Amino acid sequence: MCTILKVRWTINPRTAPQPWIACSCCGGLKPFRSSGKIRLNANGKKLDAWLVYKCSTCDKTWNRTLFERQNVRGLSPATLEALQTNDLSWIRTQEFDLDALRRKAQRIDEFAEADVQKEVLDGTDSWTRLDIELAVTFPVSTRLDRLLATELGIARSRLQALHKSGKLQIHPDRADALRRRIKDGTSIVIDLTDETKPYPVQMSVASPQDDE
Ligand SMILES: [Zn+2]
Repeated sequence: MCTILKVRWTINPRTAPQPWIACSCCGGLKPFRSSGKIRLNANGKKLDAWLVYKCSTCDKTWNRTLFERQNVRGLSPATLEALQTNDLSWIRTQEFDLDALRRKAQRIDEFAEADVQKEVLDGTDSWTRLDIELAVTFPVSTRLDRLLATELGIARSRLQALHKSGKLQIHPDRADALRRRIKDGTSIVIDLTDETKPYPVQMSVASPQDDE
């Protein structure tokens, strides 16, 4: 009999990274948050695009350049459409582009809060092993042990003990994997056969969250 419940957790961070930019109004470096809005300027066949940020203290605007004097024909129809319609999922990709942000700011604040969407991929009610596949759509600073502790209701010290005894396996495994930030494609297998405490895993895992 199959005793594995295979699930996928999709992690959606709530807050986009905030670069620290010199604010001419506040007179120092301040974290700027994305307004979620694109500003465009067309000049003949050339296009400039910015993502508008606001100072978290005084709301002063900072226009983050996405591209400058870009030939329109060099852009894919999908990108053009996204720019013209202020497409939120395209904008979200820009907001979480840490490499691009690091070229603009030395310091970037990241946030650990995330919504977890759960799906059952395969398994039965009588499972004793939980196989979790992580889908991390955007970079998020959530630690793996915090995520598991929150979502499974198992203390972090207990998770460490399970990991040490081999009953909690992480693939790919690295030193201190539990303390590191979660990565896309990570799989976690937890053997809960010997756990006497009935962890509130079943229901929370079996019912996909409907956040929308
Ligand atoms: Zn300011």
